[in-house]
Amino acid sequence: MANCIYCQCKAGLLKKTCQDCLEMLEVIKKLGDHFSFRELLDGLMATSVSNEKIEKFLETDINGQGSIRDMITARMTNDLARTMGQETDMSPQKVKTIRELEKKNPTPNDLPGHINPYRR
Ligand SMILES: [Zn+2]
Repeated sequence: MANCIYCQCKAGLLKKTCQDCLEMLEVIKKLGDHFSFRELLDGLMATSVSNEKIEKFLETDINGQGSIRDMITARMTNDLARTMGQETDMSPQKVKTIRELEKKNPTPNDLPGHINPYRR
């Protein structure tokens, strides 16, 4: 039996991803390129996957390039910066994770605001 690369549960023989995580990957795929964190969470919560597993899934760092949460955060920092000031269900721990990520990895594309056409 192999363990799921996302949640570490039993994925099944010769399987890298369990059914739950496949379902969550499908949700992310369906959301397309532009979605808010809230939309993502709503989509994931609409599955039969437990909240605990959703958390694990979002925090998984498979290839050393950041977790799914990190990747999504980097891609939609603009939306998130606005959302962080408004969303009351955003825990300090989540904000901290995002802050630490931005501190560690401040690429121009992650900066809030419109993309500066003059940047290199
Ligand atoms: Zn899994």
